[in-house]
Amino acid sequence: MGGDGGALVRRSGFSPVLESRPDARGPHRWDVDAPLRLRRRNFVLLFQASSGHILTNARPVRFPPTPNPEAVQDYVSELIDEIKVKNPAEPEFHQAVQEVVRSLALVLERDPEYRKAKIIERMVEPERVIMFRVPWVDDAGEVQVNRGYRIGMSSAIGPYKGGLRFHPSVNLGILKFLAFEQVFKNALTTLPMGGGKGGSDFDPKGKSDLEVMRFCQAFMAELSRHIGPYRDVPAGDIGVGGREIGFLFGMYKKLRNEFTGVLTGKGITWGGSLIRPEATGYGAVYFAAEMLQTRNEDLTGKTCLVSGSGNVSQYTVEKLIDLGAKAVTVSDSNGYIFDESGITREKLAFLMELKNVQRGRISEYADKFPSATYTALDSTLDHNPLWDHKAECAFPSATQNEINAKDAANLLRNGVYVVSEGANMPTDIAGIEQFLDAGILFGPAKAANAGGVATSGLEMAQNSMRLSWTREEVDARLQGIMKAIHQACRATAEQYGTPGNYVNGANIAGFKKVANAMMDQGVV
Ligand code: NAP
Repeated sequence: MGGDGGALVRRSGFSPVLESRPDARGPHRWDVDAPLRLRRRNFVLLFQASSGHILTNARPVRFPPTPNPEAVQDYVSELIDEIKVKNPAEPEFHQAVQEVVRSLALVLERDPEYRKAKIIERMVEPERVIMFRVPWVDDAGEVQVNRGYRIGMSSAIGPYKGGLRFHPSVNLGILKFLAFEQVFKNALTTLPMGGGKGGSDFDPKGKSDLEVMRFCQAFMAELSRHIGPYRDVPAGDIGVGGREIGFLFGMYKKLRNEFTGVLTGKGITWGGSLIRPEATGYGAVYFAAEMLQTRNEDLTGKTCLVSGSGNVSQYTVEKLIDLGAKAVTVSDSNGYIFDESGITREKLAFLMELKNVQRGRISEYADKFPSATYTALDSTLDHNPLWDHKAECAFPSATQNEINAKDAANLLRNGVYVVSEGANMPTDIAGIEQFLDAGILFGPAKAANAGGVATSGLEMAQNSMRLSWTREEVDARLQGIMKAIHQACRATAEQYGTPGNYVNGANIAGFKKVANAMMDQGVV
C-alpha cells in the first residue's frame, strides 16, 4: 500500500479490500485503455471519504447505465453554453474547450464515471490564476505599466509547465486557451508535466535590449513568488526567446538566491538543453513524417507552406531542408514572402540573422533575394494569400486562428494533404472540419507541436541529474517521443471508432491520462 490513497485509507481505518488499489500502482497506471471499473469504485469511495461517509460501510455501488449518445450531446452542448456564460469575452478559450469537449463526447458515451466525477467541469476551471502589475521605466525615463499573468491550469500529472507569451494581444482568455491546450499536450508527451501558461501584454518589438531587461526583471519580481522547479516551470513562447529567458532567469536567481531549473529554454552553458530551440519546429516536421509514413510516403520533394518567421518557423524550415522538402513561404505580422525556388540553408541563415539579431521585418528577405516576392498583410481580405499557393504540406507556425474556413478551402484546392500545426490552435473550428471531412493528414497542435515542451521536460530531467545529454541523444529522444505521440493519437482514434482522426486521438488520449490521475487523487 502506498501513495495518497494509502494515506487516506490509514486515516480512515479503511477496509483491506480497498487498500490494495491495484490500478494506482499497477503497470497500466498510465495506460489510457486501463479498465475503469476500479477507478470508478475508487472515485466513489474517495468521494464518500471526503463527504464524511463511514468508509468501512462501503458497499457495492450501482452505476448509471451508459447514457445514450443524444443525452451525451445535450450534456456537452450545455457544458459549452455554461462555459461561455461563466467566462465572458474569452472567445479563444471557448473555442479551445469546444474543440476538445466535442471529441470527449465519444469518451463520455463509454465511460460515464468521468461525467459523474465532473472531470471536465474541473478541467476547464484553472487551479489558479495570478494577475499582477508590471511597472518599469523605459529608456526615455517614462514609467510604463503592463499586466502580467500566470495560470496554473492542472497539476494532476506534474508541476505546471508551459510558456510565457509577451505580445500586445495577450489577455486572460488567450492565456486560458493556451493553458488548457497545454494540459492535454503535456499529457501526450509521455512525461510527468502539468499544464500552465503565462505572459504579458508587453511588446518586445521595437524595444531596446535594456528596456526588455528592465521589463523582464520587473515581471520576475512578482512571478518569482509563484514558480519553482517542483511547482511551476515556465518557458518561452511568442516574444519570449533566449534573450528574455536569460533576463528572467538572472532575476529569479538573484531574488531566490538559488540556481535551479526553474525555467526551460536556458542558454547551453547555464543549464539549457541542446535541441530545445529546435525542438518545436523539428517535432512538427517529425510528426508530419510519421503521418506520411502511414501512406508509405515521406517528405522528400514535397513543397511546403510555412507561416511565421520566429522560433517554430525557422526550425521547421531547417528540418524540412534536412529531409529534402522545399519550404516556399514564411511570414511575420506585416506580410509574407513567397520564394518559389525554395528557402535554402543560405537563405535560412539570412532569415535567422534578420529575425533573431537584427530584429528586422520579413519584407527584407525579398529585398535581399530577388527570387522572392513580398505581399503585405491586407486586413480587408477574408483570407490569407499565403495559404493560396500550390503545395503538398502546410506548417502553420505563427499564431492562433491563422487558417479560417476559406484558407482551409484554398489549401485543399491547391493540393495540400498534410497539415502539421506548429503554432497553437492555428486552424479555426470551421477549418478543422474541412480538413477532417477531406480526410487529409491533419496533425493538431497539441500533438504536432508537443516536441517543444517534451524537450523542455528533457531539460528539466537533465537539470535534476546535473548532467547534459549530447545533441544526438536529445534529438533521438525527441524523435522517439514524437513517434509515441503519433502512435497514441492514431491508436486512440481507432479505438474510439474514428480512424485517422488525429484530433479525436490527441484530445482523448491526453484527456484520459489527466482524468485518470484526477480520479486517483480524489476531489481536490
Ligand atoms: P516567435 O518566435 O515570437 O515567432 C512568432 C512569429 O509569428 C513571428 O514571425 C511573428 O511575427 C508571427 N506572429 C505573431 N503574432 C502574430 C499575429 N497576430 N499575426 C501574424 N503573425 C504573428 O514565437 P514562436 O515561439 O515561434 O511561436 C509561434 C507559435 O508556436 C505560437 O502559436 C506558439 O504558441 C507556438 N508554440 C511555440 C513553442 C515554442 O517552443 N516556442 C512551442 C509550442 C507552440 P512578428 O515578429 O511580426 O510578431
